[in-house]
Amino acid sequence: MALLQIAEPGQAQAPHQHKLAIGIDLGTTHSLVASIQSGLPRVMPDEQGRVLLPSVVHYGDDGRVTVGEAAKQMASQDPLNTLVSVKRFMGRGAEALQQLGDQLPYELVQQANGITSFHTAAGDKTPVEVSADILRQLRLRAEAALGGDIAGAVITVPAYFDEAQRQATKDAATIAGLNVLRLLNEPTAAAVAYGLDQAHEGVHAIYDLGGGTFDISILRLHQGVFEVLATGGNSALGGDDFDLVLAKWIMAQAGITSPDAEVQRRLLQTARRVKEALSERDSVQLSLAAGTGGAPADWQATLTRAEFESLITPLVDETLKACRRALRDAGLKSEDLAEVVLVGGSTRVPLVRQRVAEFFGKPALTHLDPDQVVAIGAAVQANILVGNKPDSDVLLLDVIPLSLGLETYGGLVEKIVPRNTTIPVTRAQEFTTFKDGQTAMSVHVLQGERELAADCRSLARFELRGIPPMVAGAARIKVLFQIDADGLLSVSAEETSSGVRAEVEVKPAWGLSDDEILRLLRESQARAADDVRTRLLVEARADAESLCEAISAALAQDAALLTSAEKAALDEEVASLRQAMAGEDAAAIKAATARVNTASDDFAAKRMDASIQKAFTGKHLDQLED
Ligand code: ADP
Ligand code: MG
Repeated sequence: MALLQIAEPGQAQAPHQHKLAIGIDLGTTHSLVASIQSGLPRVMPDEQGRVLLPSVVHYGDDGRVTVGEAAKQMASQDPLNTLVSVKRFMGRGAEALQQLGDQLPYELVQQANGITSFHTAAGDKTPVEVSADILRQLRLRAEAALGGDIAGAVITVPAYFDEAQRQATKDAATIAGLNVLRLLNEPTAAAVAYGLDQAHEGVHAIYDLGGGTFDISILRLHQGVFEVLATGGNSALGGDDFDLVLAKWIMAQAGITSPDAEVQRRLLQTARRVKEALSERDSVQLSLAAGTGGAPADWQATLTRAEFESLITPLVDETLKACRRALRDAGLKSEDLAEVVLVGGSTRVPLVRQRVAEFFGKPALTHLDPDQVVAIGAAVQANILVGNKPDSDVLLLDVIPLSLGLETYGGLVEKIVPRNTTIPVTRAQEFTTFKDGQTAMSVHVLQGERELAADCRSLARFELRGIPPMVAGAARIKVLFQIDADGLLSVSAEETSSGVRAEVEVKPAWGLSDDEILRLLRESQARAADDVRTRLLVEARADAESLCEAISAALAQDAALLTSAEKAALDEEVASLRQAMAGEDAAAIKAATARVNTASDDFAAKRMDASIQKAFTGKHLDQLED
């Protein structure tokens, strides 16, 4: 795969001006912020010394917003107004949100502009706004710790995040008052934290199992540059699922049949405590009072680590399946890997470490805190991007997680940028019309791996209008996909023979109302129509001008061939053509041009005759033959 240079913002900064830059790991379960100070990474704690900020926001009826540990405490009394795991909702369409929402206690509302939000005591809140509240808290924490304004931030996202989810994250950061230097894939950040860029050339696997997501990335360090060879994972698999299987096991063992929301919540809390304890210990004692959630009697049990491991084995297997797929995508075998890095709180589970080591055939790197590596890597990158290390040669490349393509005739998908293509990237492909005289083409941008457009995710639609009528297959329509370093896409279409053009920036539907999207599309269409009008006018004027010039040259030579009436008639038509040319109406210019042509037909014929006669004059027949 060819390496592409990323134009890094901020590199032109003066080297002596130290700017405050931060890296933020915006997690499903926890978020944290780090910065590089005096060359060393520092994770910033809150006033109580806690580094991890629970990604929980509580909205009070007095409009008060509480973030983090304090908000988490409110979850039990006020679950409806305490939003957790909001990262799962970021950039998802209304349908997906509804599906996710069904599993959670929140009240979802569909706003008039199509945006789904959570109904809370402090008003309706979109997932982006909730994330912004978390990010704002981290910004304030960093400003307090660093004693100044933050010049820029690198925010991490799961490698699996699609266009919409990335855009949502970026917008949340902007709303939180952060200048986003770049979004960075979490596993790539982890590799930077481990300094794998300083190591020997080689291929590395980053295994990130957090609370709500699993990511596997295969990175290659080549000539001092990271290249992401492949990514995979599951955006709905993590330590929370370990808690869930354990909670279900407890329910079955204790005979709980009708747990209300409160009992469910307590069960999950217990499960999490037990799970985390079993990372250190071989067994844990459990007990439950009769009557809890309909339990028939007091219950007591000992859960061993081995029993817990058998419960979570299918989930761990699931992560290894994704690892196998990622290796296959990268065209590699596990023996090819130099290092395996563990990221995320759930990689503290001994079974996870053991199975990962078995799968890759070597023990993983674990010496950095798996909760902090992502934020630290983001801070390292932010420090470079903001211009504090202008001579640094760290260049990070990511890949797109899903293929991008277009709908073609018959509802099929033509892939333009295959998944796992390194970004930033520009790819073009030519299409043509399928009907004689077809003057418009609908461009439907899709994301996904399926063959049928109906099975892929629709990102945007726009129309290319003003294609000159031609026989089917004659038009040449070049469609260009451009993806920037943050994974955001813009698409343009151009009919190359006429220069008719239309384009759209893919702002996924979550954040824009239908009206706004329509407006953007109409604007691009209107621009395309303007372009055509301008082009037609320029062409008509150019044709008319050359005709006028030809006529005035002919008159200068041969005006004597015309009667004065003929000459007056021709002059009149030329004058009216000149008048049309001063206007903006291409059709009027064309009509006047046609009239001048007709009016000058006789004159042209007379000149032809005259020149033929001239050619004959004084020449003998035999001279004419050679
Ligand atoms: P995210 O990136 O999704 O926010 P984290 O990386 O913070 O997630 O990981 C959170 C998960 O890690 C939770 O499910 C938590 O229970 C789990 N976890 C944290 N510490 C341990 C531990 N010692 N043993 C097992 N799981 C742990
Ligand atoms: Mg994480």
